[in-house]
Amino acid sequence: MRKFKELAELFQELEKTSSNLKMIDILADFLKKISPEEGKITAYLLQGKIAPDYQGLELGLAEKLVIRSLALGLKEDINKIEKLYKETGDLGLVAEKLIKNTKEELTIKEVFEELKKIALSQGKGSQERKLQLLAILIKKSLPIEAKYLIRSVLGTLRLGASDMTFLYALSKVLTGSKEGKKILEHAFNVLSDLGQVAYIALSSGIDKLKNLDPQVGIPVRMMLAQRVKEIKEIKENIKNDVFVEVKYDGERVQAHLGDKEIFLYSRRHENITHQFPDLVSELRKINVKNAILEGEVVAIDKNGNLQPFQILMQRRRKYDIIEYSQKIPIVYFVFDLIYLNGKSLIQEPLDKRKEKLEEILSNKLKESEKIKLAKYEKVKSNDEDRIEKLFIEAIKIGGEGVMIKDSKSIYEAGVRAWRWIKFKKDYKDELVDTFDVVVIGGIYGTGKRAKTYGSLLVALYDPKKNKYYSFTKVGAGFTDEDLENLPKILDKYKIKEKSKLVEAEIDVDVWFEPKVVMEIKGADLTISPVHTVLKDKIKKGGIALRFPRFIRWRDDKDPTQATTIDEVYEIYKRQ
Ligand code: ATP
Repeated sequence: MRKFKELAELFQELEKTSSNLKMIDILADFLKKISPEEGKITAYLLQGKIAPDYQGLELGLAEKLVIRSLALGLKEDINKIEKLYKETGDLGLVAEKLIKNTKEELTIKEVFEELKKIALSQGKGSQERKLQLLAILIKKSLPIEAKYLIRSVLGTLRLGASDMTFLYALSKVLTGSKEGKKILEHAFNVLSDLGQVAYIALSSGIDKLKNLDPQVGIPVRMMLAQRVKEIKEIKENIKNDVFVEVKYDGERVQAHLGDKEIFLYSRRHENITHQFPDLVSELRKINVKNAILEGEVVAIDKNGNLQPFQILMQRRRKYDIIEYSQKIPIVYFVFDLIYLNGKSLIQEPLDKRKEKLEEILSNKLKESEKIKLAKYEKVKSNDEDRIEKLFIEAIKIGGEGVMIKDSKSIYEAGVRAWRWIKFKKDYKDELVDTFDVVVIGGIYGTGKRAKTYGSLLVALYDPKKNKYYSFTKVGAGFTDEDLENLPKILDKYKIKEKSKLVEAEIDVDVWFEPKVVMEIKGADLTISPVHTVLKDKIKKGGIALRFPRFIRWRDDKDPTQATTIDEVYEIYKRQ
């Protein structure tokens, strides 16, 4: 059984390096030494979690409570801790400084078990219990252990090792190279659980993870689409017949119909079942043993007209759920079926999946207004006229455009390939598409914006390097209310120095951890000497967006799901 100190030392080593390759080596060396169970724990703690997202198990420890735990565990005066915290801005460092313990006793497993207990204590008196459990752990910690323990529980580890870094390291352990990465990534896309992938791989070998099937109750990472600017580009990318489908403006929902229970999952694998009791009761009527469906939930008005995403967002709430389900009715437009009656369909071509989907919904559809098949037509991929017509019809009924899907494509979990293509258009704007960018910095406002930020520095993502590159500064498009809310949304991610995941050359007043995603629109892409997107490739400067403006927050996306530098390069080339 490995000591927790070894994990803390691993974190320390990772913290010191900013090279992804080196991080892979460090992680691989560590994974070689530990048990499958410890591998699983390492994966979760690296992600700042104690369980996969879909289990919704959170520590629920606020800074204040951690400060009280430190005071209790170390028998120190709370004022002293608060003062040190003010000076350093990091409770991990405060703990490291104050701890005198030299007795090595904690194991990785023990720490994890205790953290789980903290997460599981809920309800009345739970805060007190959490506080005490953490205080006991602190008391048993060495300085270095406490530093990383505290940062883990507060979600401020910031080591820079992404899920992909971990999978590369795992591949290195199992195959000696990156050869196994594809299998591991597929397994991760199907299980949505890094810890479980590590556990299976380290205990049973990589073969166990080959061609893994989805399971009812466990969210599958969703298949994603490429984008085109003109319809004629479609035939260059897909030769088979295509399904041209309405692109609905709502929330993507994966519905898991089990023998007994039904689960709904969001794009980020949050369990959102409780938000849609109206949909759950309709799904129960579908006559299957079990199934996994995918579709878009869209708000409608009294007359059944589709409403924009913003209206649906009002359903995202803790209270008054029933009231709002009547106030804002919805339709679930189903477009895929990836599992049916005990059998995976992800390796089946889309036309087969559609056939089966229609079979299971056909008896039902007549009576259900809440569950409908997404509207589509099958056409030749070079039939530009027909695609254009379908696009216009889709816009007319309130869609954002169309999704064009290769009729022979399998369901590639978590992959953005040219099997699905999105085509959206905003006639008024020069630039076709919007960008989902990550906020990395803030510049204080003046005048009317004195109490908030005047503009935000935002970045695009590079999944290969796991880095964020500055792309533009956004100051327009915010309402007064948006502006007022900026500190509330962003300040919890304030950091003292630029994150090591961020490549930016501009000076800002405040740096943020790359966490918050927003959607923006702009006039055109240009080359700027101050921004860093693909600067190495373009030399004169980086690709940047001119005249950007804020559209909306994208809290359904995590930063690694932001627009990538490669996507923007494609748009830049066409422009
Ligand atoms: P992406 O999902 O590509 O990262 P995004 O979340 O910003 O991008 P869009 O660019 O608008 O969203 O397009 C993809 C999304 O469109 C899907 O994730 C899904 O929520 C939605 N969508 C609406 N209708 C469909 C459909 N018929 N088929 C697939 N996706 C659809």
